[in-house]
Amino acid sequence: MNSFDVVVIGSGPGGYVAAIRCAQLGMKTAIIEKYNTMGGTCLNVGCIPSKALLDSSHHYEEATKNFSNHGINIDGKISLDFSKMISRKNEVVSQTTKGIDFLMNKNNITVFNGLGSFVDQNNVKISSESSEEIIECKNIIIATGSKPTVLPFAKIDKDRIITSTEALKLKEIPKHLIVIGGGVIGLELGQVYKRLGSEVSIIEYMDKIIPTMDSGLSKELTKVFKKQKFKIHTSHKVTSVVRDGDYVNVIATDKNDQTIEFKGDYCLVSVGRSAYTDGLNLEALSIVTNKRGQIEVNDKLQTKHSNIYAIGDVVEGAMLAHKAEEEGVLVAEIIAGQKPHIDYNLIPGVVYTWPEVASVGKTEDYLKENNITYKVGQFPMRALGRSRASSDLDGFVKILADKKTDEILGVHMIGARCADLISEAVVAMEFKASAEDIARTSHAHPTYSEAMKEAALAATENRALHI
Ligand code: FAD
Ligand code: NAD
Repeated sequence: MNSFDVVVIGSGPGGYVAAIRCAQLGMKTAIIEKYNTMGGTCLNVGCIPSKALLDSSHHYEEATKNFSNHGINIDGKISLDFSKMISRKNEVVSQTTKGIDFLMNKNNITVFNGLGSFVDQNNVKISSESSEEIIECKNIIIATGSKPTVLPFAKIDKDRIITSTEALKLKEIPKHLIVIGGGVIGLELGQVYKRLGSEVSIIEYMDKIIPTMDSGLSKELTKVFKKQKFKIHTSHKVTSVVRDGDYVNVIATDKNDQTIEFKGDYCLVSVGRSAYTDGLNLEALSIVTNKRGQIEVNDKLQTKHSNIYAIGDVVEGAMLAHKAEEEGVLVAEIIAGQKPHIDYNLIPGVVYTWPEVASVGKTEDYLKENNITYKVGQFPMRALGRSRASSDLDGFVKILADKKTDEILGVHMIGARCADLISEAVVAMEFKASAEDIARTSHAHPTYSEAMKEAALAATENRALHI
């Protein structure tokens, strides 16, 4: 029988990173993936394909709407080859997943293709169409990820009533895309199709889009999305989703109890994701999941069995690829006897719309609710030379710092390239920087990063220089 120091079940960013780190630390490592391609949700139907389509659709929008402002005239009609856009996305996915095969090989990690299920605390069965095998493992890491959450009254037919998975491989551009859920997926994929010409209606249950992020970001993004002609319906509770031939009828109730009807040709249900544990046979280990379907773990990410760990989307916390990766590394190092640590407050969140939205640390809403005294420094992107040069004028950087100590408690930004800019804030907060530390740091001119320095100056003594 094959025997390993560590077996990882699931090859998403949590699982494959855990496997690499275990192998780096000298452990004999295997990984089990039920699909034929490695990389999990993130590489196959999540982060990578959605960003590929966001990039392609951004180019299309620039060409059709903005090139002429730069004096670039394209003679003749700009046309869209949507099937090529989708096949380019598929090629990006394929290259990226092959990269994981390369990494597994390079690190001498044994890959098993098949469904992994528990036999007992030290044995896992791998079942594929053609074979069944049991392997022995000292330690097991469950990294089985998540699946889209469904609404009981909205049957996903994968044709017109769809989840993000289908939205990444449509065969035509919707005329009217109804998006249920104004969270990250709804806004990112909604923007892809808006740029390609769809009418897009977003129906959100809460009183604002991206409701878990700082309210200021939600307000600014709503303003920009309205300029981009999105129809946004907040405080709307969807009660019915019914397919009618090539159309989908959606009924919602607004905050005044009025019934509103929407008719579209596609309806994307993006109301969150749920932990995925089907087929694992957790019963064999008497591991029960909580009411959100997640596997419960302690602060070392151990389940009730000390040699069995769980990481990523299948456990509590932000459902983000980089959170899963950090947990993969943490568990590998714990198994190796080290004492690693994750500061979950410093896991950044990013929405890859344009403008991009990014956040780390505490929101202003949180500080108010918890009576924490703070200072605010905010700087608008439009005051930057760099923003004017590229005509990306929307957005701001907001720094929240402790009123007494000046330590940065949260950074919230919206604007061009904020997905990359947020790293400066994360590093600063990892080192417990004060707003003044950032304010006194040289930032290259002209860059969008100057908004960080200016917001820090504003938080320090209200002494931003360029406003
Ligand atoms: P997953 O990536 O879900 O991987 C789990 C793997 O386990 C899968 O391959 C599955 O097939 C396998 N598996 C499950 N059960 C078994 C079993 N019994 N045996 C064998 N294999 C099994 N996050 C970001 O940080 N940035 C983004 O830009 C971003 N964009 C996203 C866009 C979309 C459209 C979606 C849907 C998600 C996005 N996410 C993004 C979230 C991100 O994809 C997840 O947080 C991340 O993939 C979680 O990683 P994981 O390793 O926990 O699980
Ligand atoms: P989400 O939690 O970001 O947003 C879901 C939204 O749906 C929320 O605003 C919620 O209030 C709303 N909602 C819930 N029930 C509703 C209902 N019945 N009617 C109307 N609105 C309803 O979830 P998501 O957008 O589906 O994304 C799932 C996960 O994937 C998220 O946790 C996210 O972290 C991850 N993801 C991350 C990225 C990124 O990092 N850029 C991109 C895509 C997905």
